[in-house]
Amino acid sequence: MKKLIIILPGDGIGKEVTAQGRKVLEKVAHEFRHQFEFKEALIGHEAIEATGTSLPDETLSILKQADAILFGAVGHPYYDNNPSLKVRPEQGLLKMRKELGLYANLRPIKLFDELLDASSIKPEILKGSDILFFRELTGDVYFGEKGRKDNDTTAYDVMIYSKYEIERIAHKAFAAAQTRKKKLVSVDKANVLESSRLWRSVVQEVGKDYPDVQLSHLFVDAAAMKLIQDPRSFDVVLTGNLFGDILTDEASQIAGSMGMLASASIGDTVGLYEPIHGSAHDITGKGIANPLASILSTALMLDISFGLKEESESVIDAVSQTLKAGFRTVDIADSNTAKDKILSTEQMGIKVSHRIHANKTVLAN
Ligand code: NAD
Repeated sequence: MKKLIIILPGDGIGKEVTAQGRKVLEKVAHEFRHQFEFKEALIGHEAIEATGTSLPDETLSILKQADAILFGAVGHPYYDNNPSLKVRPEQGLLKMRKELGLYANLRPIKLFDELLDASSIKPEILKGSDILFFRELTGDVYFGEKGRKDNDTTAYDVMIYSKYEIERIAHKAFAAAQTRKKKLVSVDKANVLESSRLWRSVVQEVGKDYPDVQLSHLFVDAAAMKLIQDPRSFDVVLTGNLFGDILTDEASQIAGSMGMLASASIGDTVGLYEPIHGSAHDITGKGIANPLASILSTALMLDISFGLKEESESVIDAVSQTLKAGFRTVDIADSNTAKDKILSTEQMGIKVSHRIHANKTVLAN
């Protein structure tokens, strides 16, 4: 299979982790005899420095030729500390999602058994958790009208959703539930918010097309509690942009670390794959970032964008075998991890890619 993959490393550890994602894709191409062509382009702070804008036209036109996109992260402390700056790295990400019509963010939250102890939640509560989040990406307070009034003493962000936006992601989430345990929880705040009341009624309407899927609803506050109390009770979770942003970060604790969670942003055209973490400037340049979220993002790409299930599973297997062999990056190591098993970002990428084979074999180290 011949594919053009665009890599957008972005800022901070984005560069470090996407380099490992690329390494894994190169190994997959070699093992399974595919031809993956890679091109890199600018986004975020780096793009602002070079061109004055966080998503240059050149990047956008390259993205439009892509068969899939591997994205790192954007963000820089300079902007975090100056909230009034008009040109900002995250604008590039939001604009890219809009321009490419990426309206659904899929975040699988699955715990590798080897990392049961890395989570701050008790292992007996976690074991067997397997949740697939569908977070809406192009509506909500992020894109509603926003502004200041009363001499700058009042600010507002409008939470807005249209029926069409809810319908299209609901169909994707129900279809996914049909391939899993056939349970879908829709999360909203319908007791207070009008946009949530529309959300709930549209989801109920769409649900009639999927009678085999058991639909239930939770208010976001209750969902936040239940995720930690009983994560195994969830299968597919469907929610809006803001609630999804918060709940998926909370759910990252189920997987042990931000560095373990991959995501896919899809719409009706190209798919974009990225770790859920940010540019993590506190650890940038130290070579200690966990690349597994970026590597697991490539597994999602192989499966969702290219339909390469066996190749995708070979990547997940390779991650699992590497963890089973005891290898860890610092963020997922604990007091039982031997010093010589703690790997740098690059070493982890190498260990995983060595374990990717068209015919499965298990390496001990
Ligand atoms: P962050 O996800 O970058 O980091 C949160 C914490 O998790 C940090 O302590 C970091 O060291 C740790 N961490 C994150 N990824 C890790 C990894 N792969 N391995 C090991 N540890 C990891 O979030 P933040 O600190 O709130 O934000 C930092 C910057 O990233 C900000 O500028 C923010 O705007 C940006 N950001 C970007 C995205 C994105 O591009 N999608 C998402 C979130 C935050």
